[in-house]
Amino acid sequence: MNYLDLDLDLTEEDIELKSATHRFAKEVMRPIAKELDEMTPEQVIAKDSPFWTFMKKAYELGYHTILIPEPYGGMDLTPKQQAIIYEELAWGSVGLAVALGVASFPSFGASLVAEEVLIEKIIEPFCACKDASIIGCWGITEPDHGSDTLLPFHPIFSDPNIKAQCRAKLDGDEYIISGQKSAWVSCGTISTHCALFCQMDQSMGMAGGAIFAMPLDLPGVSKGAPLNKIGQRDLNQGEIFFDNVRVPKDYLIVGPEAYEAILDITLSATTALMGIFAAGIARAALDETLEYAKNRVQGGKKLIDYPNVQQKLFHMFSKVETTRLIARAAFIYNQNTSTPAEEYSNVAKVYGTQSAFDVCNDAIQIFGGNGLTKEYLIEKLFRDSRAMLIEDGSNDTLAIGGGHKLIHTYPRLD
Ligand SMILES: Cc1cc2nc3c(=O)[nH]c(=O)nc-3n(C[C@H](O)[C@H](O)[C@H](O)COP(=O)(O)OP(=O)(O)OC[C@H]3O[C@@H](n4cnc5c(N)ncnc54)[C@H](O)[C@@H]3O)c2cc1C
Repeated sequence: MNYLDLDLDLTEEDIELKSATHRFAKEVMRPIAKELDEMTPEQVIAKDSPFWTFMKKAYELGYHTILIPEPYGGMDLTPKQQAIIYEELAWGSVGLAVALGVASFPSFGASLVAEEVLIEKIIEPFCACKDASIIGCWGITEPDHGSDTLLPFHPIFSDPNIKAQCRAKLDGDEYIISGQKSAWVSCGTISTHCALFCQMDQSMGMAGGAIFAMPLDLPGVSKGAPLNKIGQRDLNQGEIFFDNVRVPKDYLIVGPEAYEAILDITLSATTALMGIFAAGIARAALDETLEYAKNRVQGGKKLIDYPNVQQKLFHMFSKVETTRLIARAAFIYNQNTSTPAEEYSNVAKVYGTQSAFDVCNDAIQIFGGNGLTKEYLIEKLFRDSRAMLIEDGSNDTLAIGGGHKLIHTYPRLD
């Protein structure tokens, strides 16, 4: 791989990690993602599906523990290395990269508080798992609550009139959880564990939430059907229902007293991560387009020789590079602080995913009619990137959240 990275401080280890992950993305993820894209949601998760081949190989290589600190069995990566690896995985397939990312979510959430019992019951078994038999998910959105679950410190978040559909209440040494999470929970129908975000103190509105890192084999948990959608078809999604589920206190990560602060820290990482995924998929589209334009002859010339094609490619390249710069910077900054600047993560996600979608759209234009066919990867990248404008927070509302924070916290020199 001959790939320029503007970061002059990349170490030999960083570059080796990038090359190794790129090989995995190219040789394992790309062909499997293509197969899965053409299957029904039920076939994607069937026992003999290539989805499991991917997951098992990824777990064997430790890619499920990218976000987990080394003392608990994680990969021992710097935030920059995490960003580098996730970009490559998203280059392979953004849907599969998301599946791997959310698989670690209960453990990632638990690592933020690092209680002994959570380390022992949740994090260590997950890190030690090599066969993808432990899969996590992130259940935050609900049928009636999408965007409003992702706006910590916005006035809407403290409105006591807004009642969540999934709630927990204390009963002795256990919490009783009832309600449901949306059909959008990634890995929702195949997960064994959930980082569950639910409401505990209704008088505080959404801010009165709690986060559990809990197993899903408890009585009263059930799952919906896998969701059928236009993009990221290799990513399983579906509802989770909780019918008076009794969860031991040990699985609580945080209650209403610090929910908003921990959510802010969590979102500052996951939102920036979406920007990193955007850099990966946008680069994939640029790579495909460069290759195509160098070979396609039209009007007696190669497409690459037309100035308007060169110009379009330049703008696509600009979007890939600027997305990586802001997303990597926001991710690294926010991984290194307990007072995150979430607005930068929102820029990374909103700017990055819009750029990725624009790059995929421009790519189709350069491919001409061929870009619309199933013969070329570009139509899949277009569909996958479209989903990213909504995934992990609609860009419209993330801009509202980011704008609100900007108005109230942006530092001024004078
Ligand atoms: C591929 C994918 C993966 C996902 N993975 C997960 C997951 O793992 N776990 C999980 O819990 N969820 C997941 N989601 C759900 C995702 O977070 C939500 O879809 C997203 O937050 C938007 O919520 P919604 O779909 O309910 O849209 P809504 O909240 O209904 O918003 C729809 C539109 O209404 C407008 N709008 C909404 N609220 C406001 C407001 N306050 N002010 C102004 N305009 C507003 C905006 O234009 C917005 O785009 C995923 C979604 C996708 C597409």
